[in-house]
Amino acid sequence: MADYQIRHCERKLEGGIYTETYKALSTAEPCSFVNTPTRLTFPIHFSGGGPGESIVSIGDQVAKRTPIIRCHSGIIHVASRAGIVVDITDHAMTHPSGERSSCIVIEPDGSDTQESLNPLSWPFDANTLRDRAIEAGVLGLSGASFPSLKRWIDGTTTLIINGAECEPYITADDTLMQIDTHSMIRGAYLLSQALDIKTIVIGIENNKPEALTAIEGVLKQYHSNCFFDIVLLDPKYPSGSERQLVWLTLGIEIPTGSRSVETGVIVHNPGTLIDLSRAIDGKSITDRLVTLTGQALARPRNVIAPIGTPITDLIEAAGTDPELLDSITVGGPMMGFAITDFAAGITKTTNCLLARSVELQPESPCIRCGACATVCPVRLQPQLMLFALKGGALNHAIHEGLTDCVECAACDTVCPSHIPLAEWFRLGWFQTKEISAKRLRSSEARERFETRNLRLKRIAAEQDLKRLTRKAKSSEALEKARKAREAAS
Ligand code: SF4
Ligand code: SF4
Repeated sequence: MADYQIRHCERKLEGGIYTETYKALSTAEPCSFVNTPTRLTFPIHFSGGGPGESIVSIGDQVAKRTPIIRCHSGIIHVASRAGIVVDITDHAMTHPSGERSSCIVIEPDGSDTQESLNPLSWPFDANTLRDRAIEAGVLGLSGASFPSLKRWIDGTTTLIINGAECEPYITADDTLMQIDTHSMIRGAYLLSQALDIKTIVIGIENNKPEALTAIEGVLKQYHSNCFFDIVLLDPKYPSGSERQLVWLTLGIEIPTGSRSVETGVIVHNPGTLIDLSRAIDGKSITDRLVTLTGQALARPRNVIAPIGTPITDLIEAAGTDPELLDSITVGGPMMGFAITDFAAGITKTTNCLLARSVELQPESPCIRCGACATVCPVRLQPQLMLFALKGGALNHAIHEGLTDCVECAACDTVCPSHIPLAEWFRLGWFQTKEISAKRLRSSEARERFETRNLRLKRIAAEQDLKRLTRKAKSSEALEKARKAREAAS
């Protein structure tokens, strides 16, 4: 039996909101597999892990798990089913921009041909595990899709399993924690062994009793030298946000501008750890558990679908005619984004498809009521950031804490003027990143320029040296010849 404890969190989340969760909508039916669709699409630059390049061509026959995309970060994405690459073309994708982008299109052939990697056998070190995660396409499945490898650095003392899933409607992680508990604990344990971590914290909301029972059941059977600290959290949104979760479970405040890993803590979702466990067994990532939910779906539930499955197929799997829906939200109601082209395929980060009709309230001017500031979990003054951004003063918004905003949209929920504050902050963040990227690009260009100049100077110096050496040699030869001539006469 693993050494573990269950305790109630003694800290209270500052700010945040209690909201109707609507979780029961998608959990009435058990999770099930969906049929393989007739087409699968894989965005080459937006499958997670950054921009990439196709490593297949039109007409190629691929097996399940044949590598098809190599990201510049090194991450490999594979075909989720065997079939033929029928096109590489601009296609709709599940992305907040709503834009089309280059995608690989595969028509599954119904065969069961598969590829796999060699299983890793213990013991292995962190570098080996990191390489395997890259090769198998394991991403930090947190929505932001940071490649997991960036989060693993030496000096890490604690791993937190983020079982909070506090956003309304979504039940994907809750379901995974119940149906694949052993893989989640195994992935966490092997990662901890590779990084020499002694404590695994499981942060889970106290409204998930089935998942808690499943976790306890596995830990009672599990042999490990790690200590499992299960922390029951108040179901207040956004307690599952990384910064808030670290503080609630460990009492560590992550400094402004830093990430949890810099304080010795890594946070992973259940899905990441389950994928890691599969990757250790040689299985690259091919499927994704997705919550299909919302009052506009006839049969909301959780399904496991091949990555690349078109959204239209999943709407149909939820018993609804896609023609009846104008748009669907990818993710939850707080942090998700709407898309209208249902031909887009799901990616590794698609945790929820939410269909509901929401009456948009007209926006009115800010009345400076301060309600947004009272719910902000980061203690920001959202209205001041809003004024700065509306006035084009990005630096002022940054000074007010824009880069600390976790984009939770709790402020939107309480704003009586219905101002889409989080949208403004996302835009501000985007502009900030653009400026940083431009600065980086310009500093890289300067570095390249300086390196080139140094190289040219080195080449010129080498050429000078060669010329001088040649000259010296020829003078020496001439002198020798002169002396020889003098001696002969
Ligand atoms: S809640 Fe809305 S109206 Fe009130 S201060 Fe904030 S932005 Fe202004
Ligand atoms: S979206 Fe940003 S400003 Fe608004 S409540 Fe969340 S963290 Fe605070």
